[in-house]
Amino acid sequence: MARQALARFNSTKATAPKPPMAPIPPKTPQQPEQPKFKGSEEGSKKEGDWSSSRTLRYLKVAWRVTYLSALAGVAYTSYSIYQTRHPVENQLPQDPSKKTLVILGSGWGSVSLLKKIDTSNYNVIVVSPRNFFLFTPLLPSCTTGTIEHRSIMEPIRGIIRSKKANATYYEAHATNIDYENRVVTIREATDLSDDESAPVDEKQIKFDYLVVGVGAQNSTFGIPGVQENACFLKEIPDAQKIRRKVMDCIEAASFKNLEDEDRKRLLHTVVVGGGPTGVEFAAELQDFFEDDLKKWIPDIAKDFKVTLVEALPNVLPSFSKQLIDYTERTMKAEKISILTKTMVKKVTKDTIFAEATKADGTKEIVEMPYGLLVWATGNAVRPVTRDLMSKIPAQQNSRRGLLVNEYLVVEGTEGVWAVGDCTATKYAPTAQVASQQGYYLGGLFNQLAKADELEMEVKALKATLDTEPDNRQAVATDIESKARRLRRAKSLLPFEYSHQGSLAYIGSERAVADVAFWGEGNFATGGSLTFLFWRSAYVSMCFSMRNKLLVVMDWLKVKMFGRDVSRE
Ligand code: FAD
Ligand code: NAD
Repeated sequence: MARQALARFNSTKATAPKPPMAPIPPKTPQQPEQPKFKGSEEGSKKEGDWSSSRTLRYLKVAWRVTYLSALAGVAYTSYSIYQTRHPVENQLPQDPSKKTLVILGSGWGSVSLLKKIDTSNYNVIVVSPRNFFLFTPLLPSCTTGTIEHRSIMEPIRGIIRSKKANATYYEAHATNIDYENRVVTIREATDLSDDESAPVDEKQIKFDYLVVGVGAQNSTFGIPGVQENACFLKEIPDAQKIRRKVMDCIEAASFKNLEDEDRKRLLHTVVVGGGPTGVEFAAELQDFFEDDLKKWIPDIAKDFKVTLVEALPNVLPSFSKQLIDYTERTMKAEKISILTKTMVKKVTKDTIFAEATKADGTKEIVEMPYGLLVWATGNAVRPVTRDLMSKIPAQQNSRRGLLVNEYLVVEGTEGVWAVGDCTATKYAPTAQVASQQGYYLGGLFNQLAKADELEMEVKALKATLDTEPDNRQAVATDIESKARRLRRAKSLLPFEYSHQGSLAYIGSERAVADVAFWGEGNFATGGSLTFLFWRSAYVSMCFSMRNKLLVVMDWLKVKMFGRDVSRE
């Protein structure tokens, strides 16, 4: 049969007359299908055909999945870009009859609250001296130009204009919080005048509810000379200052008539604080040197040096032991000097004095001449937070920040909540904690609004009970159902933090990750694959599609052209 079919097929192919000069007719569904090869003769081929057709099927499925995912990705990206470019039309205006919610800050805590809250339930007022949200995890990359700073900024105006109801934004510092009279004093942060003695605009805002999310400031522990001589790394201007200073030191060191000692000093960067900020910055700077500076300014190659100073016995103290060892090994291989058990005591304009504990327990003072000093020793309480704490008796025992209860209400107050780095909780001061707290509060405010609404409805229904006697039964049922929903809306759940893990970049395209899995236990990993995970995790966490695309483009740009070595 198969032979006959084959013969028929072959003979059809071989003998069918082709009309001269006529185009080959297109295949139509009516045309006979090509016969399939079957029979004992093809027995040996059978398995191969079967498996190749299965491979073909898999390939087809894989292609379809890829194709559909790519299509869905393009559609999602396009929609997100469209949304970013088009603010909500007919945004609801503010309603003076509603409660006023004042949110201080535009960081991780405040912005995730803003994202979650239904602004039509309140008159929302945001106060922050920074009119954008900053994606801090990629800030160390801005110091060397791996990432351009605008790629990790998201304007607060855009966030507000994407909400259902309008919110007000003031570019200002909160200077005083009167929690008893429910008034915040704010001072204009916009500086239009060159005249420093020009009066600064102040305003008082009344609130029903207040959320304090002002973050923290850099700690210096009052160590002499730090504030005047060090660079910090918390905000965009800090990263820009470091980037300028790196190039200043390098260009100055390239002056021919400099003494050897001065050259070495200028090319020595000291990073104080072996927490994640210090480690990530040191790693980024060493990458900059290895990948770019060395190439374009070879004169500096032999004297360029990065030293990381940490008071504790090891860097990244919050990571697991094996990752600490891996980080220290990797950084040493990258030629970053790590000085542990070394506590900086004093800083002058060109020298750092530190107390080092030797192996035998004795101490010695080490002097480190430096060109650039980056100070990354963690957080301290902001003046506005400290001032609020000093007014509340229940806060007198706190040193690290505002004490809050399990609903994030500031202890000793009513209607005042706090999120993020300005609080003192059992959690580390991280973006992860702040954003989860903000998200929780957004939900809590939505729930409170729902409870208020139901309460009013129940009240109104109760009033109609006597006026509509015919409808009594139906109204009573309605009241009961609403009262049930009201009880549910009023039963608030406390805040619960879910730790997703910690990630840190350690240089030369390596990262470490302590990732939580199944809610329990940790998975510790480090290396190049972790670096890819680090990158994909951070891109996915960027605030908007615009941020995600810009960050990816920055990485591609650096891969293709290297980092820019010109000073801004
Ligand atoms: P912030 O995000 O600091 O925001 C505070 C806001 O308050 C700002 O908008 C500020 O302008 C505003 N503000 C300040 N003073 C006033 C005032 N007087 N009135 C009104 N507003 C005011 N955490 C992680 O989990 N993962 C990371 O990878 C990570 N990387 C980091 C890298 C760096 C370089 C740094 C510095 C921190 C990093 N963190 C990371 C920590 C994380 O950034 C903070 O924990 C987080 O920003 C805290 O959020 P927040 O909302 O409390 O404060
Ligand atoms: P940190 O508090 O984590 O670390 C500061 C380090 O400085 C400490 O290890 C401390 O021992 C050291 N130190 C303090 N005084 C010193 C002195 N005089 N001399 C030498 N060393 C001294 O601070 P950080 O790295 O700025 O981080 C702040 C917060 O932000 C932390 O909660 C951190 O987890 C978070 N963060 C996380 C990431 C990440 O997950 N990738 C990145 C940056 C920051």
